[in-house]
Formats: sequence, structure tokens, C-alpha cells
Amino acid sequence: MLRTPPDEALVAGRWRRGGGAATQTLDPATGAALATVHAVTPDEVSEAARAAARAAAEPQWYDLLPHQRARLLTRVATLIEDNAEHLAALQTADTGKALTETRALVASAAATFRYTAAALETAEEAITPSRGAYVTLSVHEPIGVVGAINPWNSPVASDAQKLAPALAAGNAVLLKPAEWTPLVSLALGRLITQALGELRLPTALLAVLPGSGRVVGDAIVRDPHVGRIAFTGGTETGRALARTAAEKLMPVSLELGGKSPTVVLADADIEQALAGVMFGVFSSSGQSCIAGSRLFVARALYDGFVGELVARVTKLRVGPGTRPDTQVAPLVHPAHRDKVAAYVDLARGEGARVLCGGAAPEGPEYADGAYYLPTVLDGLPNDARTCQEEIFGPVLVALPFDDEEDLVRQANDSVYGLACGIWTRDHRAAWRIARRVEAGTVWINTYKQFSASTPFGGMKASGLGREKGRDAIRAYQRQKSLYWGTATTPLPWAG
Ligand code: NAD
Repeated sequence: MLRTPPDEALVAGRWRRGGGAATQTLDPATGAALATVHAVTPDEVSEAARAAARAAAEPQWYDLLPHQRARLLTRVATLIEDNAEHLAALQTADTGKALTETRALVASAAATFRYTAAALETAEEAITPSRGAYVTLSVHEPIGVVGAINPWNSPVASDAQKLAPALAAGNAVLLKPAEWTPLVSLALGRLITQALGELRLPTALLAVLPGSGRVVGDAIVRDPHVGRIAFTGGTETGRALARTAAEKLMPVSLELGGKSPTVVLADADIEQALAGVMFGVFSSSGQSCIAGSRLFVARALYDGFVGELVARVTKLRVGPGTRPDTQVAPLVHPAHRDKVAAYVDLARGEGARVLCGGAAPEGPEYADGAYYLPTVLDGLPNDARTCQEEIFGPVLVALPFDDEEDLVRQANDSVYGLACGIWTRDHRAAWRIARRVEAGTVWINTYKQFSASTPFGGMKASGLGREKGRDAIRAYQRQKSLYWGTATTPLPWAG
């Protein structure tokens, strides 16, 4: 029996029911109501931000040395590991994702906290080369209060990617989960409060504030105590949020959308490429910013490769995330499934051939869930809307390319620049293409691999800034320079 967290937000260090509107979260596999969650109000955001600012300044937190702050992160990592099955089941119920995927996301969340603790303990400040009678140091200090705003697709991992470095940097954090999927963030918030309590740290260092982006998200961004925003979500939302942040001259990091090319060269290992292309776009039912949703295949291979791909895609197992053999689980919400279906209708209108999928699966087991069949389209030019706009569902569009120039031109002909996959045995070609494609991450003979130690983020309309890696902590700090005079003679104006 799945335990859902109580209908309480974490405001100013206390768990209590939010004073805003109630929403029902749904299990997208069945359409059944999972839990009711009350949003917080803008006044509660303000209360949480004031309390967070006070908590961030309290000596018992502010004065901790890095290795002491790291204890909080390692404790959170252990608590996540101890509760891994529960968190994975909760995320599967809330987002629909397959358990195999949510287990991996929970493991990655724990790894992010553990890695960030190690990075914090080993981060060094700089003594810069002196150019006079002084010693110069460059040091980093917390910003104070950070707002972390996340989408619905991988909450536990995206929460960890922001919370771990923001706390490691010495800040307090206001976390806003997405409207459709607040449950995992609320459960993670409980674990972090437990760790804060055990270490006798102020619980107001974290707030978990469910509610809509327009009301709660906007209130977080505008709050005068909030000095930095870490955002993951859609490009238009990110752009709007950056405009508000500009008024405050507040730093923002933006992890936004994508329409990532995945490329099969003529000499690719076909078995690997087929599996990699399918996994790259259809895992998480395509609801992944890094989904390899534009497939470019060398023209000589095109018909054979796409034909075999379609034969295999029609055999992918579609089902509830809780079934161990499910490969393509439901989408997050019926409304999102309808949006994806509308995109496939648009593709038909643009003249696409629907090679497989293009509909919800039939049968009583699918009737009440937000399912959509994995879909392969082709026959469109790269400038069609279907090839340019992020669909965020199990929809792949295939295009041929003639040579490397043509490939790079088409791959870069996109507003996005998040990721790219290259399948080839030719390491020189892989190198050339990897360096020429405008993408924050390039995978060569692999796809969707992630590591806490490797920076992640987008180019162009896919975002600004990077998460993960050693530098993630620095992104949540302010840099300060210190000059320490060593001259025994007075400065020129003395006397
Ligand atoms: P979204 O932009 O609608 O919402 C994201 C978050 O922002 C939600 O919590 C939402 O409530 C909040 N929000 C909305 N309007 C806001 C406002 N005016 N002020 C403050 N907050 C506001 O995105 P979504 O539909 O939840 O998620 C899907 C998008 O996220 C896709 O475009 C996907 O590519 C992107 N995404 C990117 C990455 C990445 O790392 N690059 C990862 C996952 C998802």
C-alpha cells in the first residue's frame, strides 16, 4: 500500500496545510486520485522567505565550516537510500514513470547529495598571485536564500540537483515542485527536515511550497529575500522568469527544453544504434528534456535502419510503471497526453508519414490511463514545426542526411541546444561532429548517461548555466576578493 505524504507544506520550518487552493494529484496509469495537496499562498511564500533568510544567517548554520555542512548532505544521502523503495514507488505513482527509471532517479538523487558533500569538503579557495605589498584571496560566500523551481518529469533527481549544491553553498532554499507532481518533493522535504533536526540545524533552511507557477513560483521569484533562482522547465517560462530576475539583477540558472538530434552514421554498429535511439527517445515516454527526438540517419542506411527501428518500436511493451517489464509507461497526465496527440495530428497536417504509433493504445487496461503509443514519423523537412518544437512525449521524427556538412547544418538548425547522440565506429568523425554540434552534452555510442560529477546544461534556447559537477556549489555563492596589506611602510598618503 503506497504511503502518500500528509497534505502539508513546509513553511518557516513547520509542516502545515497550505492556505491556498486544493488540487488532486492523479495516478496517470489508472486515472485514480492519489492525494490532495493544498497550495501555499503568496503570504506563506513571503513568510517562508523571511524565515529562510533568518535561518541562513543564524550562526549555527552560517558559521559551519564546509566539512561540517557536508555532514548534512551525507545524512540526507543515507536517508534517501534508506527510503529508496518508498520514494521510487511514490514517484512512479505521481509521474507514471516506470519503476526501473524512478529507482535509478532516486539512486541518482542520493549520489548527488553524497558527491556534493565530497566536493564541498575538498573545494579550495584561491590565494591569487600578489602584485604588491599585500596577500590576495578569492573566497566564496553564500547568497542567502535560493529559489528552486522544478518541472514534473524527474522531481527527485532535479530537486537533488538544486538542493544539494545550494545547501552545500551555505544557503537556505525555497523549493517549488510542479503542480502535477508535488508528492516526491514533499517526501524528500520530510527526510531533509529529519536530517536538519538530528543535526540541530534550523528547519527553516528548507521550505517546500506547492502551488501553481503563476502564483507560488512567481511569488518566490519576486520575493526580495530571494537572491538566486535555479529553474528547470519550459523555455517560455524560463524566459519570463529571467525577465523578472533582471529587474532584481538576480542570477538565474535555466535548464530548459530541447529537440535533440541523435545521429546514425553509415558505419554505425546497427544493433547498438537501434537500441540507443529507442532508449534515447522512448524511455520516460519521451518526457525528458534530453530525449533524442530528431533522428538523423545517413541516406545510404535510411530505409533499412528506419524500417527495422519501426519493427522494433511496435514491439516495445507499453504498460503501467509498476509492471517490471514495462518499457513505455503512461504520460504524466491526461492533459499532457492530449497535447502530445495534438502534436501528432499537427504532424499529419504537415504531411508526415506516421510509421508506427500515432494513437493511444487500445484495450481495457489502457482505458483510464494517460497512455500514448511510441510513435515514429518521417517525410518532413527539418523546418517543419514537428521537427522544430519540443513535443515532450514518445514521438520521434526521422530525417535523412547526405554528408557531414548537411548533417551539422540540419542538427544545428534548431533554437535548442541541449544534447546530441552520435552512433559511429569512426572516432575522427565522432570528434568532428561532437565539436561542431551546438549542444551542452554530446553522447558518443551511448545516450542519456548521467553523472553527478559531470556538468549538465544547455546552449541557445535550452538554457543558461550548468548543474552538477564540482562547480555546482560555486554557482550558489558570491565571490569576494580580500586584499591583506603586508607593507611595513605606510601608504603614499600617510603622514
Ligand atoms: P513549465 O515551464 O510549465 O513549469 C516548470 C516549473 O515552473 C513548474 O514548477 C511551474 O509551476 C513553474 N512555473 C510556471 N510558470 C512560472 C512563473 N511564471 N514563475 C515561476 N515559476 C513558474 O514546464 P513543465 O511543463 O513543468 O516541464 C516541461 C519542460 O521542462 C520541458 O520544456 C522540458 O524540456 C523542461 N525540462 C528541462 C530540463 C533540463 O534540465 N534542461 C529537465 C527537465 C525538464
